Order: sequence, then structure tokens, then C-alpha cells
Amino acid sequence: MRSGLVSNGILQEDEGFSTSIPDVSVVVPIKDEVDSLPHLLEAIASILTASQLSYEIICVDDGSVDGSVKFLKEQGQIRGDLKAVILRRNYGQTAAMAAGFNYAIGRVIVTLDADLQNDPADIPMMLAKLDEGYDLVSGWREKRQDRALTRLLPSKIANWLIRQITGVKIHDYGCSLKAYSTDLVRDMNLYGELHRFLPVLAYIEGARIAEVKVQHHSRRFGSSKYGLSRTFRVLMDLLTVVFMKKFLTRPMHVFGFLGLTSTFCGAAIAIYLTYLKIYENQEIGNRPLLTLAVLLLVTGIQLFCFGLLAELLMRTYHESQSRPIYRVREVVAKHRQ
Ligand code: UDP
Ligand code: MG
Repeated sequence: MRSGLVSNGILQEDEGFSTSIPDVSVVVPIKDEVDSLPHLLEAIASILTASQLSYEIICVDDGSVDGSVKFLKEQGQIRGDLKAVILRRNYGQTAAMAAGFNYAIGRVIVTLDADLQNDPADIPMMLAKLDEGYDLVSGWREKRQDRALTRLLPSKIANWLIRQITGVKIHDYGCSLKAYSTDLVRDMNLYGELHRFLPVLAYIEGARIAEVKVQHHSRRFGSSKYGLSRTFRVLMDLLTVVFMKKFLTRPMHVFGFLGLTSTFCGAAIAIYLTYLKIYENQEIGNRPLLTLAVLLLVTGIQLFCFGLLAELLMRTYHESQSRPIYRVREVVAKHRQ
């Protein structure tokens, strides 16, 4: 990692006007955190300055109503190391992070919560890990300081489930303290509440992922924005992510397989019933099996058509955004054209 002449975070040029790319962009989503913000900014600034890193802090206000906006606007005018991005209303943590990513210009991006539950003192250690050649370094709150029943237990179950289903083997998906290579972030699209699945999305993009233990503190100011209800939303997001991971480039493999199986079973039953009707002269009009055969045949054909449509959609998705179906880590050649 490059370090340089650091003054208030940003590499300064003669006029005090900076055009350089900072080493680190720290992205912080904020919803009603006015009490912790001054402490947070100071903590980030002192840690990164001490590490000789140039940096910018991108605070994204996500519809706060407690004075955070006023504070951020003031600080944005005063501090050289702060970009205050104020969203029009509350869009949710994922959208706030996506906005922060868009404004980040650093070589690497670090995200953390505004409530001081994550400790900025861990950032240099995470950056050092990233420098070992990883694209994403995720924090693991081994000694998490949250309520046992409403937070820790659901989180343990959710983490276990995500680990089993997605096959991305880390302990703590929900920790906001993460470090990313900027290239990786540019490739990931965020929707819904998918920030919790960023390691999985990163894995889909072919990232090398590491996990490091980080500190976690109980909330000193304000209150958590989430309760038990988020478990359900996490489960729904999990389904989306699993589908994306497995079948984004080949939906026909899922729908086609299900469709064929269903059609095949329906056809087998229909043939059996036809045999009974013709050779055994049995009455088949009132048999439940007949209904099942029709159901399976119709469903099978529909699933098949679904698969074809999904293939078309998938092509539109990739081609309209010029998204290749692969990701290049690097190209090594003596003569590059
Ligand atoms: N947050 C946000 N928008 C929201 C909810 C939360 O930007 O709609 C921010 C919040 O200010 C905090 C971070 O996201 O910086 C994590 O939220 P919180 O601490 O409430 O979650 P917990 O740590 O309890 O899981
Ligand atoms: Mg928190």
C-alpha cells in the first residue's frame, strides 16, 4: 500500500486542493447517530493518520431526523477528509452503502457502522490482510456485544444457514466492518438488504475472501435500527442470493430440469391411465391420478417456458450492461496492446 504526505487525511497539493487518489475510502451509513458521529470521525482520522495512510471518510446520511444531517453538513464544510452524502429519505443500510461506494475514489474501501460498535482501530490490521492478496476482508465479531435472545441467537442460526447453503465459509456475515478492493466493489450490484450477503456476492464475482477477528462494543449512543423481524427478510434475501450464485448464467438448468422431470412423471401417469382405459376397459374419468397427470404435464411445460424466458432475461441482463460472464483478476503479457 502506498503511503504519502498526509495532511488531514487527503494528500495535499500546492494549493491545498487535492486531486490525488486516497489509499482508503471509509464508507459509513448513518441513520440517527448524531451522538456518536463526532467520536467516530475523530477515531477514524487519528487511526488512519497514525498509520500514514491518506484517506477520505464518506458519511452517507440515510434520512436521519436527529440532527445528524446538520452536523454532517457543518463538518463537510470544515474538514478536508469528509464527504457528506445526504440521501433524500431513508432507503435502508444497503442503499446507503451503495451510495457511499459510488462516491468512494480510494484504492480500497472500508465500511463500518456509525454507532461505534465496530472499532476503527481494527482498520489498519484489515488493510494489511487485504494487502496479502485478498479482495475482501470481512470482520468477525467473535465476542459480539448485543442482546442474546433477539440478536445473537437469530444471528447464529442465520450465519449457520447462510454458511451451509451458500458454501461461503465465514463465521459472521453481518459484521459491517469489512475491507474491499475497489475493483471488486465496482463489480457488485446491491439491492434490497443484500449488504449482509456481500461476501457471497463477492464470491460470485470470484473474489478471494479472508476473515479476521475484530472487536465489538455495545452501543454507547442511540438504539439499534433492527429487531427480530429482519430474520425473515434475511431468509428471503438468502433465496435470491443462492439463485444468483448457482444459476445466474444458466437458469435453464434449474427450470429445464424441474420442467422435464414434471413432464416426464405426468406423461408416465397419463400413459398408464391410457393403458388401463384401452386394455383393461377401466373407468378413469373420476381418478385422482388423472388430475395429477394433467397437473404435472401443465406445470412441466410452464416450468420449461419459464426457463426459456429466464434465459432471455439473463442475456438481456448481461448484454444491456455489457457485463461479461467472467471476471478477470489480471492480465500478464510482455506486450500489451
Ligand atoms: N443504518 C442506515 N439506515 C437504516 C438503518 C441503519 O444507514 O435504515 C445504519 C446505522 O446508522 C448504523 C448501521 O446502519 O450505522 C447499522 O445499524 P444498527 O447499528 O442499527 O444495526 P445493528 O448493529 O444493531 O445490527
Ligand atoms: Mg450497530
